[in-house]
Amino acid sequence: MKKLLFIFVVTSLFACKQINRSNALEQNQNFDQYKANFINNLWDLYPNWASSIGFHKSDSILTIPDETQRNKEIAFAKSQLDSLHLFNLDSLNNQNKTDYYLIENQLKSSIWNIEKFKSYQWNPSQYNVSEGFAEIINNSYGDINEKLLAVKARLKMVPTYYEVAKKNIVNPTLEHTALAIDQNTGGLSVFQSDLVQALAKSSLSTSEKAEINRLSQDAISAIQSYCLFLKDLKNEQPKSFRIGKELYEEKFAFDIQSNYTAEGIYQKALAHKKDLHQKMYALTLQLWPKYFANEKCPTDSLVAIRKMIDRLSIEHVQPAAFQAEIEKQIPTLVQFIKEKNLIYIDPSKPLVVRKEPAYMAGVAGASISSPGPYDKNGNTYYNVGSLAGWDSETAESYLREYNKYILQILNIHEAIPGHYTQLVYANQSPSLIKSILGNGAMIEGWAVYTEKMMLENGYGNNDPAMWLMYYKWNLRSTCNTIIDYSIQVKNMQKDAVINLLTKEAFQQQAEAEGKWKRATLTQVQLCSYFTGFTEIVDLRTKIQEKEKEQFDLKKFHETFLSFGSAPVKYISELMN
Ligand code: ZN
Ligand code: ZN
Repeated sequence: MKKLLFIFVVTSLFACKQINRSNALEQNQNFDQYKANFINNLWDLYPNWASSIGFHKSDSILTIPDETQRNKEIAFAKSQLDSLHLFNLDSLNNQNKTDYYLIENQLKSSIWNIEKFKSYQWNPSQYNVSEGFAEIINNSYGDINEKLLAVKARLKMVPTYYEVAKKNIVNPTLEHTALAIDQNTGGLSVFQSDLVQALAKSSLSTSEKAEINRLSQDAISAIQSYCLFLKDLKNEQPKSFRIGKELYEEKFAFDIQSNYTAEGIYQKALAHKKDLHQKMYALTLQLWPKYFANEKCPTDSLVAIRKMIDRLSIEHVQPAAFQAEIEKQIPTLVQFIKEKNLIYIDPSKPLVVRKEPAYMAGVAGASISSPGPYDKNGNTYYNVGSLAGWDSETAESYLREYNKYILQILNIHEAIPGHYTQLVYANQSPSLIKSILGNGAMIEGWAVYTEKMMLENGYGNNDPAMWLMYYKWNLRSTCNTIIDYSIQVKNMQKDAVINLLTKEAFQQQAEAEGKWKRATLTQVQLCSYFTGFTEIVDLRTKIQEKEKEQFDLKKFHETFLSFGSAPVKYISELMN
């Protein structure tokens, strides 16, 4: 009897397992289907978002930002959440699990934005049609005549769009009002220049062109009328641009998706700044005799560090050699990573270094342009700016900022093994969800983490000057978090912000002023670099402590990146 029972139990367990396995397969297939539907519905509801990432099916539609649209968005989010919650998370594979979390976060965040954050009322710069038109006119996809017909249909909706915008606005912040006027005025050039040029190139009939011109004039008038409305607005009780603790914590949770609270990461950043200052002072003392043999080192540690940084910043390339120097460093980085066995770099996908295209001109330095999710065969470029035509004073100041040390760190961050390498890995586990809703804190955190990791492994030959400059660079993302939180939550004033950035983060006045402005116009995004970085370092420490001598850095990096651009907290869960 007992034996029989035992056999019975075993077989039923086995059967049960079989059912679960096929059930899991089915669940994952169903989930893939759900995701495809979700994206289709998403693009129906947000055609302008679709168009901005290269899905051009609905270019002819301009979404009118009225209450009907907001109600549709809320209804969509709620019904999608219901369908999403029918899936059993445990039965989904890792790719789908992280996609599930990203979708859920996106939907909850859109409800929160409409019902609680309400920036559609207080942020007039949210209303701006020019960028969408520029995207359609200037992208390399599609036939020019077809694009212009989409533009024509879209132009018809511009006057209504701005009338609705005017109705939405209630006690806007002064900062976002000024920004809206600036950006909408600046955007007029899309109609006055880009569209005019596109029309000249097209073979549409004369009457068709005249019609588009007429509609474009109406659009220009609507934009100008919106700017006038904002200028004349009686705004006796403007809302503060500071969103306060409650909204900040909530926005942080949605935008960063971290295990830390905003306050927690702020505290961590304060401690990190202190630690960096101590390390920088020790390095300064070590370097002092080499650079200032006949001078006494200042007793104020911050003053001493500043003096050493200024001295090292003189070491930079000449303006004409700027691009060549960046290009030269890429193979050096690849070689170093191979020698030290830090991460596998797919040799079939070399980075295409190019001079920055004309429409990017003026922004020197370097940046990555990656093809959108709907342009799979597009190249990924490393755009390198030129300093040609800059006056010598501006060029000198820029080159001191991107001196011989920082330029190498910039290459690590932007290219290898930073953003570019992460992108190559993300493309190997393709997820449309992650390329649309990918986590910014993970992406930035990885790039910031690789700077530290490269130096730890001996990049720069452990030169104390290299470390000092790295710490200065790292102070930037650390202080981004400190000031963002302090401004938005703790009422920090402009003087104090500028003082902190120039005295304690060793920044130039212009950079500090720019940062202040950015922090009055955005919230939370400035925390993404330091939060992602901290969480990746935390995760590595945890796994290192667990695996001890077994710990393999290369394997850690490759496993970490294999999850794609998912929030670090979920990658941590899956890796532990
Ligand atoms: Zn110089
Ligand atoms: Zn970055």
